[in-house]
Amino acid sequence: MPLRRPAVRFVAVATLTCLAWAQPAKAQSILRDAETEMLLADMAAPLITAAGLRPNDVRVVLINDDSINAFVAGGQIVYMHSGTLQAAKSANEVQGVIAHELGHITGGHVSLSGRGAQEATGITILSMVLGLAAMAAGAGEAGAGVLAAGQQAAMGKYLAFSRQQEASTDAAGTKYLIGAGITGKGYLNFFKTMQQMEYRYGITRKVEYMLSHPVSSERVAAISETLQAAPSWNKPLNQDWETRFKRVQAKLDGYLLPPQQALQKYPESDQTIEGHYARAYAYHRSGYPQKADAEAAALVKAKPEDPFFLEIMGQILLEGGKPQAALAPLRAATQGSRSNPLIATTFGHALIATEDKANLKEAEQVLRIAVARDDQNPFAWQQLGTVYDRTGDGARAALATAERAAMMGDDRTAAISAGYAMAGIPQNTPDWIRAQDISMTSRHALEDGKRKRR
Ligand SMILES: [Zn+2]
Repeated sequence: MPLRRPAVRFVAVATLTCLAWAQPAKAQSILRDAETEMLLADMAAPLITAAGLRPNDVRVVLINDDSINAFVAGGQIVYMHSGTLQAAKSANEVQGVIAHELGHITGGHVSLSGRGAQEATGITILSMVLGLAAMAAGAGEAGAGVLAAGQQAAMGKYLAFSRQQEASTDAAGTKYLIGAGITGKGYLNFFKTMQQMEYRYGITRKVEYMLSHPVSSERVAAISETLQAAPSWNKPLNQDWETRFKRVQAKLDGYLLPPQQALQKYPESDQTIEGHYARAYAYHRSGYPQKADAEAAALVKAKPEDPFFLEIMGQILLEGGKPQAALAPLRAATQGSRSNPLIATTFGHALIATEDKANLKEAEQVLRIAVARDDQNPFAWQQLGTVYDRTGDGARAALATAERAAMMGDDRTAAISAGYAMAGIPQNTPDWIRAQDISMTSRHALEDGKRKRR
């Protein structure tokens, strides 16, 4: 369908434009993936509770960086490098890393919080869900997902904790693992691996973790004793987390490794779920749509109800220029994931990409849910704005532009668009009140900015 292809391209170009606008030299990108985010949230929840914090307040954010590192910034956000997940031997090891980072949060080692921290570190979580779409359309780096902008976005490289801080953080992390009833074997193993890697020649993955969190033999010895004495030491691993983790690892490999390397690691002879998963992405990225379709079909055949398998099937079809065929799997994936906002956004994108006006109503519904549930997704606002534009609702299209601009820190566009929206939306309705909020907030931010520059 030669007419439909440009629709996908248009979106990719739009993404590139805002990346170019918002991405300074040192930016790191943030990866948004529904399955990975849900797994990390589930794995972290018992640890967060054991740390005396609330799971809803703490986020684990995935950074697209193949070195091994994890760090805390902006109050209660744990940043996890994708390389850490790819290199870890188990979900349990990753939980050890999360427990340790929570110790830095409760220890107050990163005292900055909220907006102040974002300004100081330059880290903001802005997301383009687009991901693979942009990659398939040739937008290269934009496909990596999202951006965290700022001078010091590579925060983990600059943070270095003292030995004393590391010791107290170990004590805290140990306590949280034990409190959550989770074995500390992974925690210990991860640190031992880090230590070994430091001295090994020819490692392919950089270990930045050692720079930010110095690991010493004394440290390992100190935590070994406590962990081994705990009743949870011999507790078996949670098989649900471990199985899901293997899937996520394969997915990240397929998505992030050079396709040739991914195909070597997961050759055709590997007929496991992980093999199909990694190859589906690797083939898709390297431009073999039929092979990618076949791998996705194998996944859906193995688990017809799995929302993430339906998601990748739909995504490959959508990005291969077949939005109509993508609708059924993406609709099922949206329902199966109880309207996960990232999946719903892809579904909304597909509905719009059919260029069939009859699909706009459903697109509006799913995208409205997506933006209500995820406040870090400017791409969903962009799509919703397109729906309003095409249905002739200029005021709500302006509101969508205002939302997206406010999210990305473009106060000027936010203020102007919110003004347009207020003029066209009936007064005192929820959308009008929202437009007023954005208008006021962005105006204040602009005035503050002027004052600071003086
Ligand atoms: Zn540390």
